[in-house]
Amino acid sequence: MNEIVKICKKHGKLAKKDVYLYKKLVCKKCNNEYHNKYRRKHPEGQRAYARKYSQNNKEKIKFKNKVYRQNFSLEQRKDKFKKTKLTLSDDYIKHLIIGKSKILKYKNIPKELIEVKRLHLKLTRKLKELKNVNK
Ligand SMILES: [Zn+2]
Repeated sequence: MNEIVKICKKHGKLAKKDVYLYKKLVCKKCNNEYHNKYRRKHPEGQRAYARKYSQNNKEKIKFKNKVYRQNFSLEQRKDKFKKTKLTLSDDYIKHLIIGKSKILKYKNIPKELIEVKRLHLKLTRKLKELKNVNK
């Protein structure tokens, strides 16, 4: 099972689970190190790349979303959303903060605001709980 498929100068003998196949075999650890270094050097790079990708692949993304909607029924999507409601995920809170206003956009919401809103939600939920107990 753990057959040696490559020998890395830095990490020695590598089995199949330690390598990627990208045109040729690549050591996973070296690959991760390389990308971490790159990311540290270019902190804006990833975001810029994502933006560029979405601009150049509008049709592709639209299609993907369409497929997603076809694969998951409205009920399933609602269930997924309910889960985010229970866990108070960032996305759910952003959704609440934005509401119907067009002032804020998802990417412009500061982390602090999300935290405050999360606390607020916890508080109102707790109050609701207490109210039900005291009935
Ligand atoms: Zn390596």
